[in-house]
Amino acid sequence: MLQDFRRFVLNKDSLSVATASKIGVAPQRFCDWRWQMKNQITTSTAAARFVTLDDDERTAFADKTLARLFNVAITPYAMGLMRTTHDKPCPVRLQLLPRQQELHDRTGQADPLHEKPHSPVPEVVHVYPDRVAFCVAQLCPIYCRFCFRKRRDAEQGLHFNRTIIKRGLAYIRANSRIKDVLLTGGDPLIASDHALDNLLQQVRAIPHVEIIRIGTRTPVTLPYRLTTALAQILAKYHPLWINTHFNCVQELTPEACQAVSILLQHGIPIGNQTVLLKGVNDSVSKMEQLLRALVRARIRPYYLFHPHLVSGTQHLRLPLSVGLHIMRALQGRVSGLALPRYMLDTAAGKIPLQHQYLLQHDSHSAVVENMHGELWREQLA
Ligand code: SF4
Repeated sequence: MLQDFRRFVLNKDSLSVATASKIGVAPQRFCDWRWQMKNQITTSTAAARFVTLDDDERTAFADKTLARLFNVAITPYAMGLMRTTHDKPCPVRLQLLPRQQELHDRTGQADPLHEKPHSPVPEVVHVYPDRVAFCVAQLCPIYCRFCFRKRRDAEQGLHFNRTIIKRGLAYIRANSRIKDVLLTGGDPLIASDHALDNLLQQVRAIPHVEIIRIGTRTPVTLPYRLTTALAQILAKYHPLWINTHFNCVQELTPEACQAVSILLQHGIPIGNQTVLLKGVNDSVSKMEQLLRALVRARIRPYYLFHPHLVSGTQHLRLPLSVGLHIMRALQGRVSGLALPRYMLDTAAGKIPLQHQYLLQHDSHSAVVENMHGELWREQLA
């Protein structure tokens, strides 16, 4: 515990120490993930200890209709990532603080990926033959306003529910085509070490499961959860991969990089899924900063998702042309290692989207467009 605390608090000016001192909490306590979960921010009064709220944010916190549709809860750590004033847009506030605009979305859907009809047993989403998403968790350190699974908040008792887990494991055991199990939710790392160890042991014991993946936003929202003890448990079940979810460069703090580093030291590869969001990462320069920072932290940018058509997110959605423009501009500007694939996530599966670089081809040559937009004929044979 003390060893992990020292890893996270690298100096007295760190975000952890500064935020802890702002709210009068001892840094060692602040860096305890369970303390963070017990002290999630759920009211405007609590949020006002960290940031100055605008009228819309203050009213949205108190709106009972909004609260019924989607949870509001934010770790004190994540509150510390926000700009304290609202004079300029803040990409973290846009993702995490509720806004009244969420109630005025005319086109959003509760389940845009039709996950429910694709679930042969509760909380096991089976779209591709060789893999499933197993939604074992319901709780999160923060509730991202753009989450495409926010429909699950209206239900009760989905978090590490024994019956759901038992039925899900039985389904995976009975389907030998399933090679890859993605544990997701909610955030699966919001469970005790013991519960995770027990679940992973059962998944790994299924002979045809080759790969276990965990989808978690804890490196972004609760880096203190990535303790050495947890990494040692995860490392018992290799090959195990983690996909996390950084959306803007401001989220890549020394604490987040430290959390990632603990996982890497235990041989766990880390990929990143970003959602393209208005005001958060909607320009070439913002995306470039994020991608470069991810690679510096040894996180592989994996997917850039076009925003889902999920209820309450109209103010965060963008046209496809914005994503295509960003990806086109980044081609050649950052290395291939830093370039994610731009994906449209649909009820029929994920569809890669990209600018058309190959203009003509036959068995002898191809006409292609290079990174400067110039046409080039390449001899092939
Ligand atoms: S952490 Fe993931 S599951 Fe939880 S609200 Fe955010 S996007 Fe949704």
